[in-house]
Amino acid sequence: MGYRHPQSIAAVRGIKAEGGWGVVCTEETEIHHSSDLSPYTEGRLWDERDLPALQKTTEAVHAHGALAGIELAYNGHHASNLYSRVPALSVRALGDAYNPWQARRMDKDDIRNVRRWHRQAALLARQAGFDIIYCYAGHDLSLAMHFLLPRYNNRTDEYGGSLTNRVRFLRELIEDTKDAVGDTCAVAVRLAVDELLGPEGLTHDGEGREIVSLLAELPDLWDVNVSSWENDSVTSRFAKEGYQEAYISFVKTLTSKPVVGVGRYTSPESMVSAIRRGVMDFIGAARPSIADPFLPQKIREGRVEDIRECIGCNICVTGDFLSVPIRCTQNPTMGEEWRRGWHPERINPAKSKEPILIIGGGPAGLECARALGQRGYPVTLTEARRNLGGRVALESLLPGLSEWRRVIDWRLTQIDKLPNVALYPSSPMQAEDILNVGFSRVIVATGAHWRADGVSRSRWQSLPGRDLLPIFTPDDLMAGRLPQGRVLIFDDDHYYFGGVLAELLVEQGCQVSLATPAPLVSYWTKNNLEQRRIQKRLVQLGVPVYLNHTLDEINPQGTQIRDTITGVDETFPCDAVVLVTERITNDTLYDALKPALAEGLLTHLGLIGDAQAPHLIVQAVFSGHLAARELDEPPVDGITPFRREISALCNDQ
Ligand code: ADP
Ligand code: SF4
Repeated sequence: MGYRHPQSIAAVRGIKAEGGWGVVCTEETEIHHSSDLSPYTEGRLWDERDLPALQKTTEAVHAHGALAGIELAYNGHHASNLYSRVPALSVRALGDAYNPWQARRMDKDDIRNVRRWHRQAALLARQAGFDIIYCYAGHDLSLAMHFLLPRYNNRTDEYGGSLTNRVRFLRELIEDTKDAVGDTCAVAVRLAVDELLGPEGLTHDGEGREIVSLLAELPDLWDVNVSSWENDSVTSRFAKEGYQEAYISFVKTLTSKPVVGVGRYTSPESMVSAIRRGVMDFIGAARPSIADPFLPQKIREGRVEDIRECIGCNICVTGDFLSVPIRCTQNPTMGEEWRRGWHPERINPAKSKEPILIIGGGPAGLECARALGQRGYPVTLTEARRNLGGRVALESLLPGLSEWRRVIDWRLTQIDKLPNVALYPSSPMQAEDILNVGFSRVIVATGAHWRADGVSRSRWQSLPGRDLLPIFTPDDLMAGRLPQGRVLIFDDDHYYFGGVLAELLVEQGCQVSLATPAPLVSYWTKNNLEQRRIQKRLVQLGVPVYLNHTLDEINPQGTQIRDTITGVDETFPCDAVVLVTERITNDTLYDALKPALAEGLLTHLGLIGDAQAPHLIVQAVFSGHLAARELDEPPVDGITPFRREISALCNDQ
């Protein structure tokens, strides 16, 4: 949300403080226009004109007795400056990622200036009400870290060469900040102590350790992690709770100052264990606090089973890459606190006692039932299958996705506590059944199914030759109908399915290849930090990958795939094809019920989740929650109401 949504982000942070977090920190916050992170929307503290926006956050946090922290960051060559259009300043004339431009090498005046800007930002941050001011050297995105790293820092002055020299800039930032605000604010350092690059980068048993020892008593708080962001915020598919401990646990042995770390801790047992084992003094949490802002309060009250545990999907992270406000699979209220007035623990009470029937027990139906139940409505939910949970029940059985089951488990635990919600599994419903049971309010949450005809994003006609080879969809594989032998997976969905199903089939002994029209495996997972890990895993599993390839036809020799760039066809011999293409909504029940609404036999007919439009699980949960919140709350002017933040015109001449 950053500087573009100051009221929304203040509301998010106020709710975290209300939920019991001791300190609520900002994201990295730009301190000067020469380190402008556009197109990403982070925090911004360029000058005093940014104070009113940031004060909203500190006031919201202080209102609940928590401390407010701000991560002041200057990003060197990593800053795009696409908005400010001034040259980025860095330790040397470095370029970032695949951007065809470079930063300017800082001279001594530049170094003095950055120090001055940082000091100024610290003073302004205090004026905004922050209690903890960070010097940021986490990830390999910040200038202070770039100075530390020999692969970036080739300077021959007193800021380069020996480790003592490379640490100088970070030391000066800490000293400047302490001098400016240290009498009333705590000064924290965030440092990535290992980059997981081996000898190419910082290591926790090499220079990472030496840096902490050189600066040990200087900051008031050490906040330590691993770099890069991809390694820091690993998804549950690739790392489990507490995965950073092995790298950061040395820090406490070198300093008497308190240490905070992260590692997607969601269970109180692991948190207590990390503290007792002396790994850290404070538990840091971004994702666990997004999934459940009230996690600390629930621990305090002994309501551990009520904690809505993060599933490690990194949908929250995608908002950053897509430059849109944050959202969360587990917590549908995340991002909606200000604009829709939603609270993660409280909900608007029912406006009537009229019962509601929900058809379908996937994430949309279950969340809708839970939230309507919380409102106080009498709710009946029927599910065709023996097991509740819809797609999540099935997908969480796929390799690496077991934590996703928490989406269902939390909802079933909560529903179990609601005497007004009744669940009926093994109860497929037709339109006549529904009308016969006498409910006048019905919400349809019947999901979607995968196409088997080959129509997809890259091909608008069905696939010729489908009778020549066995064709499978993700639904088949999840139902246990598995191909054998040489299998081609055609992935035109671009999220996790292609890669996960390849893993599943390799485990089953198939000889798997994957073709995708995208230039990367599981292309969309660039946005949730998983892409490189997925591609690496397929390479390790020996799965040949055909990028920029679409599937043209099935013929007696196998399949014909086509390079979408050169147009060259290739015959690909195989025994079966798995089509991961598009999904079709299961909305026939909804359509069959529509006349009953027109005839007045029903007073309410809703359609939610994948049955409305196939989407991510996060959207199914949100859709169920939205339908529950809005029942009996008529939209204004036929439009779902939400507030939006509008930039004010400034008074500058
Ligand atoms: P969503 O993501 O929108 O929640 P899912 O596909 O996960 O969708 O869940 C839809 C659920 O609806 C599935 O568990 C499916 O078995 C169930 N379902 C589909 N049609 C019916 C029906 N006619 N009666 C009862 N349940 C149904
Ligand atoms: Fe956790 Fe996923 Fe929510 Fe992020 S979006 S906090 S990873 S559940």
